[in-house]
Amino acid sequence: MILKDNEFGEVVVRKNPFSKGIKFSISTDGRLSMSVPSHSSDFLIKRFLNRNRAIIREKLPVNDPKTQRARDAKKKLLQKRAKDYLPYRLEYYAKLYGYKYERCRLSHANTRWGSCSSNQTISLNIGLMNVPEVLRDYVILHELAHLNHMDHSNAFWAEVREHDPKYREHRRRLKMFSPGV
Ligand SMILES: [Zn+2]
Repeated sequence: MILKDNEFGEVVVRKNPFSKGIKFSISTDGRLSMSVPSHSSDFLIKRFLNRNRAIIREKLPVNDPKTQRARDAKKKLLQKRAKDYLPYRLEYYAKLYGYKYERCRLSHANTRWGSCSSNQTISLNIGLMNVPEVLRDYVILHELAHLNHMDHSNAFWAEVREHDPKYREHRRRLKMFSPGV
């Protein structure tokens, strides 16, 4: 189906029965396309588009060096904000709940909000600075719980729930955002 959008023009929407959340991509001709779970309503698709407008705009190809410079500057600013915030927030929750990690890394990955490696390095995506604080905290608590459970077992989720009783809702809401910056 084709969605007509005032800003992005024709958006190609593909319904995918295997997709768990809404994802967008930019095709080689610069057109925006979205892959959505089969049951997604038009309302949900439009809401996703509206919430991610700024991020999508950033990803669309630019020919103009001025726009590119503005984009680079914005990314640098985000990186700085992330550096001044995420490691401290992580440390705060680690202390509060008695976790020990080795170090905190900031990442720019396009697909992951965070990760926790077996050598206890926690990576947090700088794009977290663009999502509401409760969702940011959920990601931090999720990665901290991986220090004790390196999987997504029931025991893992039980630990996440202990520190974030609304983790299910937060996890679902996070799918409305894209980590790429
Ligand atoms: Zn995980």
